[in-house]
Amino acid sequence: MSGDTTPVLDLRDLRTRFHTRDGVLPVVDGVSFTLGRGQVLGLVGESGSGKSVTGFSVMGLVDPPGRIEGGEVLFQGQDLRTLPPKALRQLRGDRIAMIFQDPMATLNPVLRIDVQMVEAVRAHRDVDTATARRHAAETLALMGIPSPEERLRAYPHQLSGGMRQRVAIAIALLHKPALIIADEPTTALDVTIQAQILSEMQKLVKDSGTAMIWISHDLSVVAGLADAIAVMYAGRIVEIGAVDDVLDRPQHPYTQGLIGSLP
Ligand code: ADP
Ligand code: MG
Repeated sequence: MSGDTTPVLDLRDLRTRFHTRDGVLPVVDGVSFTLGRGQVLGLVGESGSGKSVTGFSVMGLVDPPGRIEGGEVLFQGQDLRTLPPKALRQLRGDRIAMIFQDPMATLNPVLRIDVQMVEAVRAHRDVDTATARRHAAETLALMGIPSPEERLRAYPHQLSGGMRQRVAIAIALLHKPALIIADEPTTALDVTIQAQILSEMQKLVKDSGTAMIWISHDLSVVAGLADAIAVMYAGRIVEIGAVDDVLDRPQHPYTQGLIGSLP
């Protein structure tokens, strides 16, 4: 809706803990931020700082021994934590999409891309196969994928790693989600492919108004893509702000260290 100022995502004091034999780990320890339409938040921090669990918590996808134990996850004004499981499942893959480091977390190795994409379309939209397939081809083209028809006929293993990830991203984009949570989606790719995907994603979110959380352990990757950066350390956001502010005037010693280690 134009003029609607409700944030796409308003995360308030989110708390997720893991209950292990060694005790209770506060993995996400009071995380808050808001994200508006078309905004990209880079969530950075060292391995184990709680970035992925934050992403999964937004999706309501924390498995035991993890538990979301506090806070609000307001998606377009509605608290996902109070949503019935069925309604939450319906939102996933439709209004909220997640992209992972390994595209095979999304793709099925034994099905052709067209079958998977048609299935993904029809899981949320009542359209016939031909319409779904056409939409799939258009979305592949949108991701800058050459010869979409050829890719549609392929099995995942017949594509390069970068192409597989582009297809996984295209699947996430099928329903024009309001929010994308991208968890290190380019980390495993070589830098040229990484740069191409980053610029395609940036253009797509700006054109469509999609909000995105881009999770990365690499500050230099998100600096070129994000509007704002949140620095996570031991389950907390120790610093958050516009990219330039965080890069030019980091307030927290941990952020200063991260910036100091940039090439
Ligand atoms: P990041 O994505 O920043 O590398 P994660 O969010 O994956 O970190 O994990 C943060 C911490 O959560 C880990 O260091 C670990 O202590 C804990 N954790 C994650 N998954 C589990 C699990 N299944 N069981 C127990 N602890 C877990
Ligand atoms: Mg992670």
